[in-house]
Amino acid sequence: MAHNISERMFGLTQNNSTVREMFEEGNRLAALYGRENVYDFSIGNPNFPAPEKVKDAVFDVLNNEPSTMVHGYMSTAGYPDVCAAVAGSLNNRFGTAFDAHNIVMTAGAAGSLNVILKTLLNPGDEVVVIAPYFLEYGNYVANYNGVLVVAPPNAPDFQPDAEAIGKALTSKTKAVIVNSPNNPTGVIYSEETIKRIAAVLEAKQKEFGHAIYILSDEPYRELTYDGAEVPWLTKFYRNTIVGYSWSKSLSLPGERIGYLVIPSEADDSSLIIDAAAIANRIMGFVNAPSLMQRVVMHCLDERTDIGSYDNNRKMLYAGLKDAGFECAYPQGAFYMWVKTPCEDKEFCRLAKKYNILVVPGSSFACPGYVRIAYCVSSKTIEGSLPGFKKLAEELSL
Ligand code: PLP
Repeated sequence: MAHNISERMFGLTQNNSTVREMFEEGNRLAALYGRENVYDFSIGNPNFPAPEKVKDAVFDVLNNEPSTMVHGYMSTAGYPDVCAAVAGSLNNRFGTAFDAHNIVMTAGAAGSLNVILKTLLNPGDEVVVIAPYFLEYGNYVANYNGVLVVAPPNAPDFQPDAEAIGKALTSKTKAVIVNSPNNPTGVIYSEETIKRIAAVLEAKQKEFGHAIYILSDEPYRELTYDGAEVPWLTKFYRNTIVGYSWSKSLSLPGERIGYLVIPSEADDSSLIIDAAAIANRIMGFVNAPSLMQRVVMHCLDERTDIGSYDNNRKMLYAGLKDAGFECAYPQGAFYMWVKTPCEDKEFCRLAKKYNILVVPGSSFACPGYVRIAYCVSSKTIEGSLPGFKKLAEELSL
């Protein structure tokens, strides 16, 4: 049928994000059965409020900083004092030597990735992702006419297999996206894994004679359990560019605030920094939200309530294991990755009978699993467990 929108966008209207669809389905079921009787584990929308300090900082900034500055345009890379504060905080935590010019403030992790992909990609350039992966990467790469190349999953521990990544690299590879703690598995990539990936990339850079960048997508960096540490990648691989977001660490996903770190040691660093600031502007972000830049500057040491996520993790894991499901104990983020005893989409269909909404692994290029986002209230988890138990019985576990 004739239509007046672009072919690509038409395609997207016909095949929209499964996670978003589930989210809408959750709203539909809630209208029918009441919100408290629907166990919606579909989307990574933090249920815990932002720390009090965020609200205080909003009022402090509004009361004490000049309005024309707080709400005005600034350099497209961000306020220099905010960039300097972010660089200082990273240096304290990771022993690095960044300064303000290494930081570009962005509209969240999605903004970071789009800005850096716009900066790096020529049409036809390849970007390697590691399954299972956040499916939006495919859209982001397509935005700049790049080509997504998927390295296969490495079950059962889902630590990426460096050799398999090596096989996915070609002379057209511009970047590899790494996401740890991982959405959807909750796995933290170990130092050993990172070193192996770095060695493979170093060798391939030499072979092909050009840079291959790691784009480290880190919205879950601070969401770790049992004292687990997330390796800081610029220490292991020179051509690493980090994309960060406060969406999860401060429960601020609607505010769209994050940053890119572009280290001086990276190949073409100065050019990338200049181009990323321009990309921020010409993609229409212009700059990261001004008020939020000023607010996060005062909240660099603040974190969401990781203890509540940890309680959810424990309760859900114990309940699922008790019911007979096979799942890994997440080390970070707020996702449980559960093996399905039947086809994953069928599992999601069956779960809906108990008003439980989960996302099929095939939505992350890894069928045979489902993702349960446990960034919900503990009541939701408690309420869902009898349904999970019945589902396990129905599946003869
Ligand atoms: N990357 C990953 C792995 C995510 O899970 C998400 C959001 O869920 C994003 C990026 C986008 O985050 P933001 O809201 O900061 O754009």
